[in-house]
Amino acid sequence: MVRHQPYREIGMTRPDGKPDDLPALADLSARIGANPLLIQGPGGNTSVKDGAVMWIKASGTNLADALTRDVFVPCDLPAMRLAMANGEARADQPAEFALVQGGLRPSIETSLHAVFPQRVVVHVHCVNTLALAIRRDAGPALAARLGAFRWAMVPYAKPGANLAAQVQAVLAPGVDVVVLRNHGLIVAAETVADAEALLLAVVAAVTSPARSLPAAAGLADRADAAYVALPDDHPLHSVARTPHLMQAALAGSLYPDHVVFCGVGATALSAPETPTAAAARIMAQGLPQPAFLLVPGQGALIRADASVGAQTLVRCLGDVLARLPEGAVVRPLSDAQNAELLNWDAEKYRKVLNAG
Ligand SMILES: [Zn+2]
Repeated sequence: MVRHQPYREIGMTRPDGKPDDLPALADLSARIGANPLLIQGPGGNTSVKDGAVMWIKASGTNLADALTRDVFVPCDLPAMRLAMANGEARADQPAEFALVQGGLRPSIETSLHAVFPQRVVVHVHCVNTLALAIRRDAGPALAARLGAFRWAMVPYAKPGANLAAQVQAVLAPGVDVVVLRNHGLIVAAETVADAEALLLAVVAAVTSPARSLPAAAGLADRADAAYVALPDDHPLHSVARTPHLMQAALAGSLYPDHVVFCGVGATALSAPETPTAAAARIMAQGLPQPAFLLVPGQGALIRADASVGAQTLVRCLGDVLARLPEGAVVRPLSDAQNAELLNWDAEKYRKVLNAG
């Protein structure tokens, strides 16, 4: 379907119909996209509003590629906001609001950007934010660090219009930092430069030191043809070798992209078990094959055929949990929350696009 031409009507300044600061947003996107402590694989997204048009990262593309390919797609912002205000089911179908049909789809998190009044919105799966936002005491833990910001926090909800509505509900005037529990961070500003400065300031405020323990000798002996030892400096070894981190990992899935790329929660390899037998045990429960296995006290194994996305999210789990202090208790996703992520068509689409 071809829609009307919005660009002339709203007086955009570039002859190609793109906002003046889209190149600056692409530059910021590429830089944060290349930082695994902020963005993992196709996760996270950025946007800029230009009158009635919102340019947002396309689903299945990587922010890291923002300077080498077109990752931004234009959306009909008033139409999306109206659909959300009316509680229409299509508010959860961002493709409906794409101004160029038949191309890349807007991010499944488009509604999350539409609710912000600020022009520029940056959403990251910041590891240091996650290390706080997965905790049962996320509120006070974040408050202790974010006192200098106008911030708010929303409970976990599956990414989409429902989560966006919750964010909208906490957006008092001036709020420009929102933490999504068990998910990530959003910052908003009028300019790309201000959004970057705010992002850096928030990240600095939430940053914690990471534990770093190498794999124990003998880990490779636990590998088989299906699961191999991770590189010696991989952060997930610290988790397997630290009892309170192991406990946190085994509590369950801690954020959505983990479920999408790694399966549900984490699995410990028991003493006599082979990796293949452990994977079969999980799959017999109707769950996806785990992307990794934790060998208590020794380190972590990864599927020999793990996709790039799975490898990225396996590292993310290590990066997040290595920052969890002793005594902190995590709040994992519920079984129902895991299930809705696994059956989610939009996520399957994103994963397929990102395969290989
Ligand atoms: Zn997200």
